[in-house]
Amino acid sequence: VHLTATRHPYPIQVASENTSYTDEYITAKYHDRGASVETLPNGQFKVTPTVNAYEFRTQRKVPKTGLLMVGIGGNNGSTLCATILANRHHISWRTKSGVQQPNYIGSLLRASTVRLGSNPETGKDVHVPIGDVLPMVHPNDLVLGGWDISGLPLDKAMERSQVLDWDLQRQVAPHMAAIGAPLPSIYYPDYIAANQEARADNVIAGTDKSAHVEHIRADIRAFKEKHSLDQVIVFWTANTERYSDILPNVNDTADNLLASIKASHAEVSPSTVFAVASILEGVPFINGAPQNTFVPGVIDLAEKHRSFIGGDDLKSGQTKLKSVLAEFLVNAGIKPLSIASYNHLGNNDGHNLSAEPQFKSKEISKSSVVDDMVASNALLFKPADPTAKDAKAKKGEHPDHVVVIKYVPAVGDSKRAIDEYYSEILCGGRSTINIFNECEDSLLATPLILDLTILAELLTRVQYRDVKNGSDFSPLYPVLSLLSFMLKAPLVKPGTDVVNSLNRQRNGLEAFLKACIGLEGSPDLILDTRLW
Ligand code: NAD
Repeated sequence: VHLTATRHPYPIQVASENTSYTDEYITAKYHDRGASVETLPNGQFKVTPTVNAYEFRTQRKVPKTGLLMVGIGGNNGSTLCATILANRHHISWRTKSGVQQPNYIGSLLRASTVRLGSNPETGKDVHVPIGDVLPMVHPNDLVLGGWDISGLPLDKAMERSQVLDWDLQRQVAPHMAAIGAPLPSIYYPDYIAANQEARADNVIAGTDKSAHVEHIRADIRAFKEKHSLDQVIVFWTANTERYSDILPNVNDTADNLLASIKASHAEVSPSTVFAVASILEGVPFINGAPQNTFVPGVIDLAEKHRSFIGGDDLKSGQTKLKSVLAEFLVNAGIKPLSIASYNHLGNNDGHNLSAEPQFKSKEISKSSVVDDMVASNALLFKPADPTAKDAKAKKGEHPDHVVVIKYVPAVGDSKRAIDEYYSEILCGGRSTINIFNECEDSLLATPLILDLTILAELLTRVQYRDVKNGSDFSPLYPVLSLLSFMLKAPLVKPGTDVVNSLNRQRNGLEAFLKACIGLEGSPDLILDTRLW
């Protein structure tokens, strides 16, 4: 039932002195338990348990929310619109295997559950959809809009994408047409592949980047006003751009970045213009593609404005599996020696990625995914030794990791991913795992865009305070690393470690949502099953 369009009132009541409810807020006390570890001169670890008391406060009213996609006319954008409309309007369609109902399969929030606890009478676990742990926007209620450098109206854009069954396209087309044509967008040809030029018939005039920021800000405000929205999320699902060079005095601080925009500096990308416009409007901006939109100046600006950002690059297929398999191997005490990944795909994303600078962005984002697993296990991988003479030892041991992407038009949106995991096992043995993964790319990516949008909105409504120093409630830190589960190269608070492990990312999110309603402790301890 939760996979469909059904909505219901907020279903959880926590009976605890730590949790209180008013019409406006859910407030919960939470004890963050950790440990600080010192290494003693004799090599022993001295571990001191720590506990910090926080209070979380979540606004209960779910705002009327709009989703503005950059690249709305692409495969992801048009598929997302069509699937929301199919759910909203209860459109079912015929396929060769029968009648298909719309749903949100693949969405963490709408199609996966968390364990709340167990029923005292039956002893059985009770689960709820993750999306029910706190009051969240339902995907059906998102108001849709966006920009695209291609002006094709959305019904035609959906047809061009060749993702959805024809019988669904046929029925959803009038609703798609009603969203209208995408808003004109920013096109700096140098940032995306030259093969995209023919698409660019819907571009904002001029080369003045300040004017472009103001144009996008005005679009956000107009959309908000037109649909009487309380909140808007801006989401980059446009083409992968090349990396921007990080240059001192250009994009290293907020002030320098704003000055560079004023000077229409060449190293300010369209996606950075969108991010800056969103931050200045105080609306969350999420980057679903791999390029370095979030140059240091953007992060600095987001901090100054306390405006939320999240990225980078949707983690839909191969990388998601890799973050599970690499963790499985390393946590099982097996040593991956090499991971070789090949992809081929035939959609417009693949076409764009067939150009070297854009491929480079994707390669970087796909490559870092096993780093934290490797760093967590010094038994298998020798850590970096800055004093070593040998360059390899200096950097630390790491599996060889290669990523190849090729454009094969015939396979369209159905990306093929082939991965070989070659590992060392007991006493010099070798183990090889080969994975062949066929992804319907946009059907995997769409639910992630929804999850990211809905979580980003929720996180704007959560505030916290440190109980010990009696501080006032304040918003979360602007870089939303809680979104990592859906992202290939998670952006985190500068200076903190990235968590790539899919399990740890999910556990972190689950623990956070539960903390906001005052539920503590590890759900997997299940002591009642282990003690007398
Ligand atoms: P797509 O090429 O079908 O769509 C991108 C759209 O963006 C196109 O309609 C294009 O005209 C438009 N566009 C390009 N530059 C623009 C600009 N400056 N402003 C507005 N619109 C612009 O690609 P897609 O398959 O929808 O993927 C979108 C992005 O998501 C890509 O960057 C891709 O790498 C990333 N991504 C996709 C997946 C997936 O599984 N589908 C996974 C990870 C990341």
